[in-house]
Amino acid sequence: MSEQGVRSGPTGPGTTVLVWFRRDLRLADNPALTWAARSGLAVLPIYILDESSGDAPEGCATRWWLQGSLESLALGLARKGSRLTLRRGPASSVLPALIRQVQAVAVAWNRRYEPHLHQKDAEVRALCAALGCRVREFNAGALVEPREVSTKSGKPYRVFTAFWRQCRDRRFDAPLGPPRALLRPNSWPESDTLHSWKLRSEAPGRAAGLAAAWRPGESAARARLTGFIDQALGAYAQARNFPGLAGTSRLSPHLRFGEIGPRQVVAALANPGTEAARTAFLRQLMWREFCRHLLFHNPQMSSKNLRTPFDRMPWRESADDLHRWRHGTTGYPLVDAGMRELKSTGWMHNRVRMVVASFLTKHLLTDWRAGAAWFRRHLVDADAANNCAGWQWTAGTGVDAAPYFRVFNPVLQSRRYDPQGAYLRKWIPELAGLPDAHIHAPWMAPASDLQCTRIVLGGDYPLPMVDHLYARKRALEAYASHVRIQTGPLPG
Ligand code: FAD
Repeated sequence: MSEQGVRSGPTGPGTTVLVWFRRDLRLADNPALTWAARSGLAVLPIYILDESSGDAPEGCATRWWLQGSLESLALGLARKGSRLTLRRGPASSVLPALIRQVQAVAVAWNRRYEPHLHQKDAEVRALCAALGCRVREFNAGALVEPREVSTKSGKPYRVFTAFWRQCRDRRFDAPLGPPRALLRPNSWPESDTLHSWKLRSEAPGRAAGLAAAWRPGESAARARLTGFIDQALGAYAQARNFPGLAGTSRLSPHLRFGEIGPRQVVAALANPGTEAARTAFLRQLMWREFCRHLLFHNPQMSSKNLRTPFDRMPWRESADDLHRWRHGTTGYPLVDAGMRELKSTGWMHNRVRMVVASFLTKHLLTDWRAGAAWFRRHLVDADAANNCAGWQWTAGTGVDAAPYFRVFNPVLQSRRYDPQGAYLRKWIPELAGLPDAHIHAPWMAPASDLQCTRIVLGGDYPLPMVDHLYARKRALEAYASHVRIQTGPLPG
């Protein structure tokens, strides 16, 4: 390991600054780390697994990812001669204890915008101040901080297109490079070992699928961005809707953990690709900003309908239906392929996320919160803002949501966005032998095709658990009679 950049900092009380890593697990474009590095003081990087704040990853997929991400961060810091200290417990007791122990003069962190953390951060700020320790906060994760923009009447945005119009032509700060060197303290405080956190113990059965699909960490995030720009950005505007193509960036888990920041992504888009491709991609990045803006200004949004008339929705509660949806045995190939992709890789294509979410909330009339909870548990990119906004948008309960009468037809979506059935064949191999014309709706295939391919419907692969036309009618009636009808614009 290179010891380049290793220097001890000044010694004695008041000569150390803490850098508290949270969703910014990277060295580059990390303003809190850069500030600490430039302070001329010894730098003590810390990560706190705080299960009391609702911030520690809860799902087996995000916990799996966190381990890889922290390993990568620790390695990156070690290359700068520094060391990542790991502690577990409430930040409001861990940080003050560490400040006292090393007599830190300041603590730096990058801001978080999730409402449940406002109160926690305020508490930590007050505790630091009481110890005479300065707090410095920065923006590492947002292109547009939620308080930074508002409508002409000074209100938060509720409609994406207006938000997009306001933000699309902004100039974003150039990303910072990684710090050249980090001064180290005289001695390192004791640290937990990553191993002792057992982050991967809950997903032994899933670890192989996750490891085959992903490589967490800052350098992997950079490589993924470069690969996407070289190979897929040019066709992004057209290809991004087709789940059988490698048409999107798959940067979402890297962005979720802050292994790469949005300013770095935007800066990398500057040269290559056509203007149309760049704009199409920036627009999706802006959806991420919009979701955060929505959650910041509507703190109840991860658990409550944004349109309150939906509080009276007569959601069905069928454990059997939910089980079939979760495990990809609905009998609708596109839905089942998506749910199987999720379980195997911890990720699902955006088009398919919309289809499976629509199927759960409209075809099965199941509360979107049940779906959001399953996603939270299984997605590697599970993120409070994007997840609940995606679910509320699809269910029609959000402020800028798909109109309630938009019920995705899973067969038409499949024919349109996976015409050759490449995605279906990958995730539902039992249907692989069916011709393209019938793979989207095997129950409509002629008996001869089923016989030729030796597929027994209801045996090898289920029959549809609910008839589309019946389910659509049932959903429309339930929605129309129990909610005040408000429609919103369609998604971009
Ligand atoms: P790309 O198309 O390459 O887009 C680049 C980046 O833009 C993404 O990485 C992501 O950060 C952002 N982005 C793209 N589309 C959206 C969108 N619709 N909303 C918000 N941000 C977007 N995304 C998450 O990151 N975490 C979630 O928990 C999550 N849950 C979702 C739940 C539902 C029901 C739906 C419909 C969407 C959800 N999304 C979520 C949004 C979207 O599906 C993913 O961000 C996207 O599929 C990630 O793939 P990508 O990185 O290849 O995207």
